[in-house]
Amino acid sequence: MAELYYDDDADLSVIAGKKVAVIGYGSQGHAHALNLRDSGVDVTVGLREGSSSAAKAKDQGLQVASIADAVSGADVVVILAPDQVQRTLYAQDIEPNLKADATLLFAHGFNIRFGYIKPAAGHDIVMVAPKGPGHLVRREYESGRGVPVIVAVEQDATGTAWDTALSYAKAIGGLRAGGIKTTFTEETETDLFGEQAVLCGGTSQLVQYGFEVLTEAGYQPEVAYFEVLHELKLIVDLMWEGGIAKQRWSISDTAEYGDYVSGPRVISPEVKENMKGVLADIQSGAFADRFITDQDAGAPEFKELRAKGEQHPIETTGRELRKLFSWVETKDSDYTEGSA
Ligand code: NAD
Ligand code: MG
Ligand code: MG
Ligand code: MG
Ligand code: MG
Ligand code: MG
Repeated sequence: MAELYYDDDADLSVIAGKKVAVIGYGSQGHAHALNLRDSGVDVTVGLREGSSSAAKAKDQGLQVASIADAVSGADVVVILAPDQVQRTLYAQDIEPNLKADATLLFAHGFNIRFGYIKPAAGHDIVMVAPKGPGHLVRREYESGRGVPVIVAVEQDATGTAWDTALSYAKAIGGLRAGGIKTTFTEETETDLFGEQAVLCGGTSQLVQYGFEVLTEAGYQPEVAYFEVLHELKLIVDLMWEGGIAKQRWSISDTAEYGDYVSGPRVISPEVKENMKGVLADIQSGAFADRFITDQDAGAPEFKELRAKGEQHPIETTGRELRKLFSWVETKDSDYTEGSA
């Protein structure tokens, strides 16, 4: 059984006694900074010159400074810029301004696990990674709850890295829901695998194939959209509440029988072998290298793949259909304009 932490296992005064710099004000950054502030922590948001987020952070009552100034005054530096820019940001703006004994805190282990950032021996290196999007981290905190977190210590230079990490996890509301002890390696590899094989990559491809098979067979795209995309949320909600078992309990016997006989036919044992290949590329660093090499070159592959995905016919059908349902509150413009 994994080791779990709750509010009683952490002392809020540890982080409240330190100066915290949150670098980046995106999905995670805004949520961490606001939750820390509301938990009584001295927090400064460090942003690039001319950052469009500066006005937003100031409007929300936060102290904003240049990255250099935020870092040089901080006991804890929280790196919440995109993973692919963290290496350069660290080398150029963070490391030269960092106190010798400052703690470095991450929400994902990518740059430490794959060696893109190699902090000096005097720093505690910790991770508090919410298992949910940043906007939920803020919303749950405001309603008195929290998003579960996973917590890890990679380097314990001071001997008190765990106290700092758990105190921080408590301050952002994570220990109201619960924290799970992990390592940078486990978090990084499982996070990448989960999003690639199942949550994002696997699910997106499954939905696109389902849509293609139905529409190529002559069924109406609108009907196909409802069957393979819209209803997915309802099914996943049931799984989330009570596992695959609850989902199967709720659906008709017809659907349940079809699940047993056709699921393994669609997702055949070969798919499991493909997943092992994906995991091997994550573990070896081949995926990280491909991602960072492309990003460093201006992200040509990434941009091409993104454009191709946006052109899939399921997106056209979805855009039209979603205008018709008043009960879907999030408008397309909410995510096309946001950074999450
Ligand atoms: P994001 O893309 O939403 O925001 C990043 C922010 O960093 C921007 O808003 C900006 O303020 C700043 N920024 C962007 N480019 C920069 C640059 N070149 N130099 C300096 N600052 C720059 O990022 P995010 O999704 O919040 O991810 C931050 C970290 O949190 C990553 O390590 C990510 O893996 C991790 N994480 C994210 C989520 C999530 O919900 N999105 C969940 C768990 C962990
Ligand atoms: Mg994840
Ligand atoms: Mg991830
Ligand atoms: Mg149906
Ligand atoms: Mg049933
Ligand atoms: Mg994004």
